[in-house]
Amino acid sequence: MIVGVLALQGAVREHVISLNRLGIESRVVKREKGLEGLSGLILPGGESTAISLLADDSFLHHLKDLARTGFPMFGTCAGMILLASGIEGRDAGYIGVIDITVSRNASGRQVDSFETILDIEGIGQDVPAVFIRAPYITSHGASVRPMASHDGQWVMARQENILVASFHPELTEDTRVHEYFVGMAKEIGK
Ligand code: GLN
Repeated sequence: MIVGVLALQGAVREHVISLNRLGIESRVVKREKGLEGLSGLILPGGESTAISLLADDSFLHHLKDLARTGFPMFGTCAGMILLASGIEGRDAGYIGVIDITVSRNASGRQVDSFETILDIEGIGQDVPAVFIRAPYITSHGASVRPMASHDGQWVMARQENILVASFHPELTEDTRVHEYFVGMAKEIGK
């Protein structure tokens, strides 16, 4: 299997390294064409506004259509904002394929970045998680399964083929979160 990493802006290389550690082949994706033959796509953290501008509307639409076919996607931090159906203070989502509303920069400013450990349902305990100007999930639909919380706020969730995390699992050496996504992609691809 090959897992794609959206490579317009943000922490791209770190996701490639995490996939490498799991022995999973990866491909950086900049355009629609690059999506062919992939088993899943990771949308990295960075700056959601910048990524959305670099992606342009037609690419974002294509990603939305692809997600609706059941294609597995995993958004971390800014990637989670791109996948959310609602963003506080904004009329509409970008790709908008998971029924959650997020509040951007809810974890604080860049200088308030922090590392903590999370118990993640379906993944395990004491999973290290780095938060950098992270979004929190402020509400979610009934078909969304929240998987982890921090400070009483949901920070990880899944709805069928879409997985999102407020934090950056790729900035730690723990590969359990990536392993979960790879397992999910394998399951869906069967
Ligand atoms: N605050 C950023 C945004 O709104 C996300 C930060 C991150 O991805 N680390 O896009």
